[in-house]
Amino acid sequence: MTFHAAVITLYPEMFPGPLGVSLAGRARAEGKWSLEAIQLRDFAADKHRTVDDTPAGGGAGMVLRADVLARAIDHARALFLPGTGRGTIRRMVEGQDVESDALSECPSTSYAGPPPRTGEERTTPVPVLAMTPRGRPLTQARVRELAAGPGVIVVCGRFEGFDERIFAGRGVEEVSIGDIVLSGGEPAALMLLDACIRLLPGVMGAPSSGTEESFENGLLEYPHYTRPAEWEGRTIPEVLRSGDHAKIAAWRKLQSEVDTRLRRPDLWERHEGARVQSASGAR
Ligand code: SAM
Repeated sequence: MTFHAAVITLYPEMFPGPLGVSLAGRARAEGKWSLEAIQLRDFAADKHRTVDDTPAGGGAGMVLRADVLARAIDHARALFLPGTGRGTIRRMVEGQDVESDALSECPSTSYAGPPPRTGEERTTPVPVLAMTPRGRPLTQARVRELAAGPGVIVVCGRFEGFDERIFAGRGVEEVSIGDIVLSGGEPAALMLLDACIRLLPGVMGAPSSGTEESFENGLLEYPHYTRPAEWEGRTIPEVLRSGDHAKIAAWRKLQSEVDTRLRRPDLWERHEGARVQSASGAR
């Protein structure tokens, strides 16, 4: 099953960007995932291709219009329709609301669209995610869920962000990549896609490199070391050179717990809460 990513953006040229090389680039060449970058301006209703307007109530900056975003999202969703992988969409062409074939009207690229969807794929709706600092912080657990699905539609904001009505109006999930403010949603979308792609079947070399990672069990990963055994007077912990696998596993577990407690008390608290809950549930 190929994972399909459709990204709605004012800067399609930013894609695939870093996802065109290394692990993700190879995986795309092998057909494990596909990408379409959709130009939001193609869904504007006027000849100036306007996508934004001034904020209601006044204030600085511009806001992305809900009507333009909705047409772009409908177009992207049509690309995932069951049966043919294409569909009928409505979009504005020179001020006229017209109905047309999704792929023949696909204005941004020569992308051939996702292949026909069958069986299980048909029953899974494609999530639409908007990147925004107001969204729910992205977690590894959510990334795992997304990577297990048919793909994602990602909407990148610019300026002051989105007209709020688009979220409820099109069932859009608001996602933040952390408590920072970027100038646009594109780097955030690239992060989200990178995190999904590395989890796709066959993308990473050793399957364990996907599961033995920070956050996979609610904790930070233990620290790593490699040769040389001594560097600038600093040595590798003796236990890692002992060859005793049980001892190494115990040391790693302890380090993982200690580091999480010290560096991420928020994670530790959640981890402990879940542990206590499952222990009391088991009784
Ligand atoms: N006015 C918005 C606010 O204060 O919440 C910030 C808008 S920001 C300058 C422009 C766009 O960058 C956002 O619409 C969003 O798409 C993206 N962006 C910025 N920070 C982000 C974050 N932490 N997570 C996800 N997307 C972000």
